[in-house]
Amino acid sequence: QSDIPETNVDVLIIGAGPAGLMAAASFAHLTAIPSASPLSVRIIDKRSTKIFSGQADGLQCRSLEIFDSLGFADRAWKEANHMIEICMWNPDATGIIQRSDRIPDTIVGLSRFQQIVLQQGRIERFFLDNIQKYSGGAIKVERAILPTSLQIGEERVKVTVRKLTEEEATPPQATTGSKSDVTDGLFRSNLVGDDYEDKITDAKGGEEEVINAKFVIGCDGARSWTRRALGPEFELQGEATDFIWGVMDIIPLTDFPDIRMRCAIHSANDGSLMVIPRENRLVRLYIQLKEVTPDASGRADRSKITPELIFGAAQKILRPYKIDYEYCDWWTAYQIGQRISPSFSHPSNKVFLAGDAVHTHSPKAGQGMNVSMQDSFNLAWKVGLIAKGICHPRILDTYQSERRRVAQDLIEFDHKFSRLFSGRPAKDVMDAEGVSMAEFKDAFLKGNLFASGLSVDYGPSSLVVKSGDPGELGDRSVRSRNLEGVRRITVEEFEVKQSLAKGLPVGMRFNSFKVLNQACARPWHFQERLKADGRFRIVLFAGDILDPAQKQRVKVFCDKLSSSNGFMRRATPEGAKIDSVIEVLTIHSAKRTETELLRDFPDILHPFDPHTGWDYNKVFVDEESYHEGFGDAYKNYGVDKEKGCVVAVRPDQYVGWVGELEDFEQLQEYFEGIFLV
Ligand code: FAD
Repeated sequence: QSDIPETNVDVLIIGAGPAGLMAAASFAHLTAIPSASPLSVRIIDKRSTKIFSGQADGLQCRSLEIFDSLGFADRAWKEANHMIEICMWNPDATGIIQRSDRIPDTIVGLSRFQQIVLQQGRIERFFLDNIQKYSGGAIKVERAILPTSLQIGEERVKVTVRKLTEEEATPPQATTGSKSDVTDGLFRSNLVGDDYEDKITDAKGGEEEVINAKFVIGCDGARSWTRRALGPEFELQGEATDFIWGVMDIIPLTDFPDIRMRCAIHSANDGSLMVIPRENRLVRLYIQLKEVTPDASGRADRSKITPELIFGAAQKILRPYKIDYEYCDWWTAYQIGQRISPSFSHPSNKVFLAGDAVHTHSPKAGQGMNVSMQDSFNLAWKVGLIAKGICHPRILDTYQSERRRVAQDLIEFDHKFSRLFSGRPAKDVMDAEGVSMAEFKDAFLKGNLFASGLSVDYGPSSLVVKSGDPGELGDRSVRSRNLEGVRRITVEEFEVKQSLAKGLPVGMRFNSFKVLNQACARPWHFQERLKADGRFRIVLFAGDILDPAQKQRVKVFCDKLSSSNGFMRRATPEGAKIDSVIEVLTIHSAKRTETELLRDFPDILHPFDPHTGWDYNKVFVDEESYHEGFGDAYKNYGVDKEKGCVVAVRPDQYVGWVGELEDFEQLQEYFEGIFLV
């Protein structure tokens, strides 16, 4: 019998980088979902502090939409630098770099947000504040804690952890020969071996504790301890290249004209450079280091890499323009490579891996933090709703089937993009070894859709009703595990359903257009009403509610929704409000001034509470606003203005099902496959 203290929790998150913090924030937002006992969540990190400078900085549209659903996109939006235009610089016939093209940084009209850049440390700060606010202090990062063993049992996962000393929890800096006392990020770079990890794993440090968790989420970065604890079958697979790049965050002193634009610069012979204008006069430079190459071990000698060496390379690439700096905020270097784990979840569905723990690639495409956060955003509500006894455990299979495919796409994108970026520009069409600048621009343009995070399209599963092969990943373990609960629908049937809302593709995130609140005429971006609070939503496009036949269709649908043996009542825990796990939101297309909320819309669309009265925030109209223009939502969502349709939306804003108002049984079947009704 051991005398190590033991604690039980619902969820243990290992690692408090972007992926771990997103998971913690998502759990904190589930507090309004009713449950017998509150969800207990712990999050541990081996380091003594969060990061304060450097690392990731690019935030894509989808991440901002998610931040908005958690309530802090405005903080990032205000503080960040906004990326508006990309300038391409290439050598002219004499080999001198010149601006050859300009393209918009974010594809126009994709999202209400555009790409912005802000240092990762600030984003971690926003998360920490948000977690504190929504969990009421119940979830907080426990720092300087190292997991030392993990055993998966029948009921729970047993994780032993140890408190570290301050010294053990502070990573060594490798700053050598730098101009100033600057923070470097080499300790986190893939140029570093496992020496630091080994040092702290051997530490004899402080007290031990056993945490018995129903679920463990490993968000502990590229050298994930959790991944290694799960066994060799989870090891990252892929390849490294010989391309080494340096990164510097500086305040530049330069005559280069586009220093406040995002630039992709290919020099004739000195390598490539990317300029990322940042907040607070900073500029990030990604600089190809042609003089550094990997040794026989396949890894470059990091002791040779100094800020002076990196900056010297930048000065050569930018010639004839001059660049210097007095202030450097952070620097690092990395070797380009793409690696992915064959599996993101243990077959028991009790231990999951997210973020850099399961996929790594080069940072230039600005994807790692975004995709990592989106992994745990996809996972946390599923785990939370199961831990609360609301949803069926089968939905956990969709974590791997949905997110591994995104990671695979990311790896392929980065593989192509980083090679085009690191290659020497072709001198002419006969120069087969050089990179064609037309091809590079084309990859940039196509990459921009992918890089926005808005091309993610989840395949059929228990959560997404569409035609296609649920195992299309080609991964046999996924194929066999993902079949349970998949709603079968033929291609023809699906085409008919999808045609009801062509602008809301099933499997993709619910796009946003402006609508007006029926009760007060305030314009809202509809996505603002899709908060990440763990609730599913039924969006009822009620059509022309003033047409008697349509009004009758809406009434019949709502009667079924409100019935005591319907899925809504059965999915809602006894005694809880009718909208506590599934919320109904309505958008109609009749004239606002001729419709009345209480007269024309059945009660279930604006439920009554004896303490707070009618709910005035659930019915919206597709009409022009006084001050903010016309969202034209029905047209943009591709929905018929007379007849409308019904759309089921997952808690993470992805469209799960589309049907007619008469398809109530199919909608019921969808929810019965997800909820423990
Ligand atoms: P990490 O950020 O690595 O966090 C892991 C956390 O786990 C850390 O806090 C660590 O202390 C902790 N941990 C590790 N091991 C243990 C353990 N055994 N026990 C407990 N805790 C542990 N991404 C973008 O999206 N956009 C960009 O513009 C971008 N630019 C980048 C630029 C550079 C120079 C670099 C290096 C990366 C960049 N990235 C970018 C990538 C991005 O930083 C990572 O993909 C992202 O941080 C991954 O988040 P994560 O939470 O999965 O892992």
